[in-house]
Amino acid sequence: MADEKLEIDMVASVHYTGTLPKNNEVFDSSEGRDPLTFLVGHKQMIPGFEREMIGATVGERREFTLVPEDAYGMPSDEHVVKVARGEFGDIELVAGMTLMSDSGPFTVKEVNDDEVTADFNHKLAGESLTFSVEVVELRSASETELTHGHVHGPGGAHH
Ligand code: ZN
Repeated sequence: MADEKLEIDMVASVHYTGTLPKNNEVFDSSEGRDPLTFLVGHKQMIPGFEREMIGATVGERREFTLVPEDAYGMPSDEHVVKVARGEFGDIELVAGMTLMSDSGPFTVKEVNDDEVTADFNHKLAGESLTFSVEVVELRSASETELTHGHVHGPGGAHH
């Protein structure tokens, strides 16, 4: 099936390196790890990533740069909230630290005795992102995977 192409509803495994074009800093890479496996077209990936990879074949390498709108979006004040200091109990809080919550990770922007300003914007919001991606494996998704909207087995959910 060497002529298979990366399409919606296929399971794709890729090796990738993501860099910030402004300073060439690597923010994420699968190098030295298992490839990233995802179900194409089910919102598992940022929108521009899939769009740029559609039609790629196994062994093909693509490099592209996404504007923030095609990646993690622009930072918004709506995602910055004030939380009572008491909610954090005895945790020592320092501006700049990243904490996990039920609603996902956030950055502590400001701390005073009464309240904490929590920034839930993605740390890559507002950034253009450059990706170098190589397709390692492609296969059709099973019906169960399509129903669940994610990959099963290696690189995916085990249930
Ligand atoms: Zn599942």
